[in-house]
Amino acid sequence: MKLTIPDPALVLLVGPSGAGKSTFARAHFGPTEIVASDAMRQMLSNDPADQGASAEAFALLSILINGRLRRRLMTVVDATSLRAANRTRYRRLAARYGLPVVAVAFDLPARTFHARNRGRDGRVVEDEVVDWQIEQMARALSAMPSEGYAALHVLRDPDTLGLVELVRQPA
Ligand code: GDP
Ligand code: MG
Repeated sequence: MKLTIPDPALVLLVGPSGAGKSTFARAHFGPTEIVASDAMRQMLSNDPADQGASAEAFALLSILINGRLRRRLMTVVDATSLRAANRTRYRRLAARYGLPVVAVAFDLPARTFHARNRGRDGRVVEDEVVDWQIEQMARALSAMPSEGYAALHVLRDPDTLGLVELVRQPA
């Protein structure tokens, strides 16, 4: 499957823990194109799972996104982005610089999120947290079509995620 993404753009990866967001980001984007909430938590506290560092982590994330978009550089947000308010904040940042926002949503079976979360090399999130994220994901999937993305790509097949080809379309 081919996903076409305008370049530059702000790309939001939307999905629960275990969706494969970080793997997808690493496969298709350069290291400095990816801004990740876990990496910010880790920079702040040595622990990518430290929820107590979340507020500062997201403040840092905003600074990085803002700085990169101001320079018109492709930027991928590697966070769950399950909350509508967070997605709105990112869309406003991109709008400030007239850049398109693309959402890539991981609409995979619940058992896949759980299995891949448990298999993560870094932090494993508690099953109850993943269940709660899966509920949020259902709400996100119904809300996103009317949130005004330049493109909304929904990935539904857990077995072909690795076969996705990303095509960058220069703006
Ligand atoms: P994230 O929590 O959404 O960032 O998910 P990760 O990218 O950390 O992936 C979670 C786990 O699933 C890791 O152990 C990955 O190696 C694995 N994974 C990610 N993508 C795929 C895929 O396309 N196929 C399979 N089989 N495993 C994957
Ligand atoms: Mg991740």
